[in-house]
Amino acid sequence: MNFKAAVIGHPIQHSLSPSIFEFVAKELGEKRLAYSAQDVKPEDLLKFLKAVREDSSWIGFNATIPHKEAILKAVDDVAPAAHSVGAANVVHVKDGRLQAYNTDVLGIESSLRQAGVSLKDEKVLIFGAGGAARAAAFACASEKPSQIVILNRNLPRALSLVSDYAANFSEVTFSATDSVQTLQTDQFSLLIQATPIGMAHHESSADHSQLSIFQEMIRAARPNGVAFDLIYRPERTPFLIEAEKKGLKTIGGLYMLIDQALATWDIWFAGSISQNLRSVLREGLANNLRQKLNSKPGDQ
Ligand code: NAP
Repeated sequence: MNFKAAVIGHPIQHSLSPSIFEFVAKELGEKRLAYSAQDVKPEDLLKFLKAVREDSSWIGFNATIPHKEAILKAVDDVAPAAHSVGAANVVHVKDGRLQAYNTDVLGIESSLRQAGVSLKDEKVLIFGAGGAARAAAFACASEKPSQIVILNRNLPRALSLVSDYAANFSEVTFSATDSVQTLQTDQFSLLIQATPIGMAHHESSADHSQLSIFQEMIRAARPNGVAFDLIYRPERTPFLIEAEKKGLKTIGGLYMLIDQALATWDIWFAGSISQNLRSVLREGLANNLRQKLNSKPGDQ
């Protein structure tokens, strides 16, 4: 039997997901997977889900903008991380039930682990309060840092994140600010950049005022700290370039993208990738994606 899978979004034409899953299926010799990109408008989401429920060949799908939040209300089961983040990017069709997961959290956890970042009793600064920032806050809070500060220009959105998480992670002190200048110098072990500022082909390309936010954030980092930019295109972002100037260790978003996709595979195919194979796949995918990202405008 063939397995149907897809990434749904609107727009969807620049999605890298079909290339990623095609690469993984080929490397693993999984010939049964038929993965497509489907343009699904918000008003057509329920129609798409009905079609999935009626066709037993579906194994699952990835959801991207604008479906990540709406999908939670339309599925049968929601995994705890997706529930806390308030968004899901993966659905697994299991025994006729639609189960939603958030593998962005797993992708962030994996990137931090691979970089040897330990957060116990450390302080974390997250710039942004959207879906990716919420996934980052969840991944970090699970490691029990002493403090997580959310920096966002829209303060009510940051405060809403803080109030959602403060109750779930009682050992972590959460706070929110819209003013980077108020942050004390040399205090954060980890900075996470979770806005589109600096992303290639994005309207929020890093102009002077935005670069100064990055410089202020980096001033607030400890000299041996880590800077993690969730953006994967370009690989060396304006934020990471600034962080290198202070000698911070840097992490880009490419491996988060890869690891969230491998986590999706694990959910659909019940953890079938061995550790050794996973390392080979990560590097193979990174090289494959670098070529694609350097040659055409892209999106997840
Ligand atoms: P989102 O939900 O739209 O949130 C965007 C956040 O960025 C909001 O907090 C927004 O602030 C802030 N922002 C946007 N433009 C800004 C500007 N000019 N100045 C200051 N703040 C600004 O987006 P998302 O889904 O969280 O994604 C954020 C970024 O994460 C994406 O651009 C993408 O590059 C990256 N990402 C990477 C991966 C990966 O696999 N590597 C996965 C997901 C996302 P307001 O609340 O004030 O509007």
